Amino acid sequence: MPRPTAVYNRGMAAPESRRYHRLQLLLGLTRLALGTAYLAAVLLAGGGQALAALAAGVTASAAGQVALVAAALGAGHALLGLPTAWLSSWVLPRRYGLLHQPLRAWLADRAKAAALGAAIGLAGVEVVYALLRVTPLWWLAAAALAFAFAIALTAVLPVWVLPLFYRLTPLADATLSARLLALADRAGVSAVGVWIADQSRKSRTANAAVIGLGRTRRILLYDTLTAGFRPEEIEAVLAHELGHHHWCWPRSGSC
Ligand SMILES: [Zn+2]
Repeated sequence: MPRPTAVYNRGMAAPESRRYHRLQLLLGLTRLALGTAYLAAVLLAGGGQALAALAAGVTASAAGQVALVAAALGAGHALLGLPTAWLSSWVLPRRYGLLHQPLRAWLADRAKAAALGAAIGLAGVEVVYALLRVTPLWWLAAAALAFAFAIALTAVLPVWVLPLFYRLTPLADATLSARLLALADRAGVSAVGVWIADQSRKSRTANAAVIGLGRTRRILLYDTLTAGFRPEEIEAVLAHELGHHHWCWPRSGSC
């Protein structure tokens, strides 16, 4: 799912917007510091070995032990990050009038994202540990697999992942659609079309992204962007996103 870090907003005065982003930065740094301290503490206290010994007592299966240790460490990390996540994704956006999604829908979105992240994370850890058991070149094989996975995920993101979070519809405005596709074409980024995501159901933040790969690569606009911004402003936002695809391939281009 795109995680917009740069959001465009009409309703916020510049000083207010600066304050909002400064608070978000502070929360982000706090989360990073907490996460680093957590991992350092686990490492220094020998928590990894202790957890591995515990897991070995529960199951004889190597994959099962890896899963248990990863789940325990991941749960600890998630719990530690809960207060800052709550502040940065719920309290602050609501206080600044950006988020109006009901709590239940917001929690459902967070749960889906967490489940997806946990499943991918666990699969990644299992693959690395499985490779460790069979080859000294595990690092090379793991890197190759991670690369292939990143490409596959980029390709399926618009068709499999994003519909879990948004209702996606083709942009109805043919003039704007042609204009944006022409801009993408000029930037050397081929796209199959322009889609609209119903962000207005959740929040007032506006953004765009270029997502997918090859035959799934498309331009995505939040409906908040098309509703509140002029075509040349939308073009400027898209130009930024196209820059990502030009330089950061195969990253999904959302920023
Ligand atoms: Zn960016």
